[in-house]
Amino acid sequence: MSATTQQPDFAVLGGGLCGRLVAWRLAGAGHRVALYERGPADGSQAAAWVAAAMLAPLAEAAVAELLITELGVASLDTWPRILAELPEPVFFQRNGTLVVWHHADRTEAPLFERRVRANAPHALADEGFVALAGPQIDAAEPALAGRFARGWLLAGEGQLDNRQALRALAAALALRRVETHWNTAVDDAHLPEARVTIDCRGLGAKPVLPTLRGIRGEVARVHAPGIGLTRPVRLLHPRYPLYIAPKEHDVYVIGATEIEGEDMSPVSVRSALELLSAAFAVHPAFGEARILELNSQCRPTLPDHRPALVWDGARTLRVNGLYRHGYMIAPEVADETVRVAQALLDGRVADADAFGALRERSRWGEMLRLDDTRQPA
Ligand SMILES: Cc1cc2nc3c(=O)[nH]c(=O)nc-3n(C[C@H](O)[C@H](O)[C@H](O)COP(=O)(O)OP(=O)(O)OC[C@H]3O[C@@H](n4cnc5c(N)ncnc54)[C@H](O)[C@@H]3O)c2cc1C
Repeated sequence: MSATTQQPDFAVLGGGLCGRLVAWRLAGAGHRVALYERGPADGSQAAAWVAAAMLAPLAEAAVAELLITELGVASLDTWPRILAELPEPVFFQRNGTLVVWHHADRTEAPLFERRVRANAPHALADEGFVALAGPQIDAAEPALAGRFARGWLLAGEGQLDNRQALRALAAALALRRVETHWNTAVDDAHLPEARVTIDCRGLGAKPVLPTLRGIRGEVARVHAPGIGLTRPVRLLHPRYPLYIAPKEHDVYVIGATEIEGEDMSPVSVRSALELLSAAFAVHPAFGEARILELNSQCRPTLPDHRPALVWDGARTLRVNGLYRHGYMIAPEVADETVRVAQALLDGRVADADAFGALRERSRWGEMLRLDDTRQPA
């Protein structure tokens, strides 16, 4: 859509996962929105392009705190409503996660369970954590019949197709007349004109969020006809959680490494070997799978590993730190962003006291932060 001369209400910087959702929500609320994305409309420059897009708040409770779990649980209920409003279909499933382990790694199992139960709300852990013996695994996931003696079904967890979601959101932005500027990198010295700026640039916001860092993740995408896994399978592993997420048409996303640093270079041989061996060990038919892609990207991460909405005290809100949980928590993060953004636009929040009051009232107030290193305009 071509640019118009009138100043928009909002400029959204970064059209990855968060930027697309926020821009779409704001436009749906009747605002004039412009979105600037350095990469093409398909989203291929975003961490969101590489992600497995598992929506697994209970499994992630092994490595995440209560805020993240609760954002994830609430977002799981919201995703279907979002997807129903998009103009293109997006694969979404809520069939649970199967957690298994090899005999050699069996000491990981009680550690995982203890961490999940310590971090997740008790009711969620009690109801969502279903212990399975071998025959029950075989019945739940016939493709794995006879392969694992014990496991857990984390009932109610889900996943979606990340690339379909990015594409459908781009189409939805056009329908809501968001002024989209693809292939347009925004430079902090020359910000686009708007009444309020929402910075969703992920790791690209590092110049203005110096504590932001990248955590490298590597994944393989393979085509493996005939295996027929029906839900994401997580394999407990002493170094990082490995998963196999079945998408449509026999495509599987196998991930993911978790390596400190902002190294965007191609996948290492070691990581490729580990990921593909893990899949092969879960089911030997992965030996005949065809490797479609090996991808690496960096997860945008703040020091406390929490998502944050950082207000600069003036006209800019930065939404960042979605780390390894972007898809899992994006609906709630986007809704909270819209609430704060509208309060900035209509002047309800113009000083630290008003921001503090908004924070107090919000269900997700823990995410709201004031960047007090900056001077109000
Ligand atoms: C290997 C891997 C696996 C993952 N698996 C999962 C998973 O299973 N479940 C889950 O919930 N999450 C997962 N994630 C995390 C998820 O992908 C991220 O949390 C999410 O993408 C963050 O969203 P974002 O919009 O903040 O950042 P991004 O998706 O990275 O989007 C930021 C956008 O800003 C753009 N940009 C940057 N700089 C500029 C600039 N100067 N001007 C204009 N545009 C700019 C970028 O091109 C990009 O499109 C995974 C991530 C990785 C790397």
